[in-house]
Amino acid sequence: MSRRKRKKINRIKLLLIIIIVLGIFIYIKKSKNNDIYTSGDDNVDNIKYDILDKSESDKDIVEKYFMDGMKKSDYERVLNHNNRLISDNNYKYIDYDFENKLHYNELETLFKKIGSSNISDTYVIGSSVDKRNMYGITIGKGSDVLFIDANIHAAEVSTTLVLTKFLTDLVNEYENGNKDIINALNRVKIVAIPCMNPDGYEVYNYGVESLKNKELWIYQNKGNINFENIKSNANGVDLNRNFPTQNVGLYYKGYNLIKNTSIDKTTEKGKYFNGYIAGSEPETRASMSFMLKYYKDTYAYINLHSQGRVLYAGKPNLSNEFNDLTKKFANYISSYTSYRVHGLSSEEVGEGNDGSATDFMAELANGFVFSTKTGRLSTDKYINNSCSLEYKYPVITMEITKTWTSDTSVFKDEYYNHGIKNMLFDLIENNF
Ligand SMILES: [Zn+2]
Repeated sequence: MSRRKRKKINRIKLLLIIIIVLGIFIYIKKSKNNDIYTSGDDNVDNIKYDILDKSESDKDIVEKYFMDGMKKSDYERVLNHNNRLISDNNYKYIDYDFENKLHYNELETLFKKIGSSNISDTYVIGSSVDKRNMYGITIGKGSDVLFIDANIHAAEVSTTLVLTKFLTDLVNEYENGNKDIINALNRVKIVAIPCMNPDGYEVYNYGVESLKNKELWIYQNKGNINFENIKSNANGVDLNRNFPTQNVGLYYKGYNLIKNTSIDKTTEKGKYFNGYIAGSEPETRASMSFMLKYYKDTYAYINLHSQGRVLYAGKPNLSNEFNDLTKKFANYISSYTSYRVHGLSSEEVGEGNDGSATDFMAELANGFVFSTKTGRLSTDKYINNSCSLEYKYPVITMEITKTWTSDTSVFKDEYYNHGIKNMLFDLIENNF
């Protein structure tokens, strides 16, 4: 073999080695990335969604006036997050009727029991700042999804128990051979996140000492916090302002757009804080992963709160078609509960500093996708009210009970005597 030929072969060998080493490096890096977010079995298929590289929003303006957007890699991890199935199939009658206040770990047992029918499944979808598991529950074999979530605000614990009671009743009725329910659950699927703020739930019910990690912000600032109406998670972030929606954290960096928003963690009464980065909180990301899995099949979305027996129905920046559908749904709920309906006129884009769970689900319904430029949902058809609705579901904020309380007899009264039970059962049997 000539010297030149040998040299050429050596060069090819070296190139091959470099390619192989590089390949191994990329593979390890990728699987490491997945490890951070996946917590177990691959029970749910990975999902792929479009990610926009262009945006109607001016990147410079966003950088100047908005809080930081979510990183593309973080959003992708949420999209590809695998939920871990934890329930088995040995159903026994689930005995729960608002008897007592429950610790979060007692709730976890209930969530698992709700998943124990062959019609239902319970998943761990993530965990809170103080390392409590978060759960997603599905009931039904149908493809049309009724999506309900609860307790994104700490003090609004009634919503977790009312939703848990509904899920319990559904499974018991199904197992009891109720024909109407069996038929309904062949047609639809209930998808629920019964507690979006587990640390907040526990702290509101049992005090700040129930936090395991005493380094967390609300423990460190416990002397200044009014726990009576606490909204935030254990980091002091209002999860219902932390979703990466189009206007999340508007004017955040410049000044406070609205008197009750804060650019930093705060203990002041009636103020809330978006977080420093959109989608920064693990509770937000866990909820997003379940929402992104099901929104395309959703026929109605309800986000439960507990302040004042009202319904918020309308987003001024979104399509007329969406707002008409949402108003119709609010009127349907109100026909059972007599809750007051607030329409478009009581909402202003950006005024609430946005980033709520309903903003996120509403923007997804209107076809928004994640923009890598702004780190938030985005669209080309923004502020065009005549554009058509991509996924035809209404989005409602439903405030149950007069005010926050941990008195379970109030929850029980609201469920049975203020139309909630009947409304929810009719909603799966007949749509609206
Ligand atoms: Zn609330």
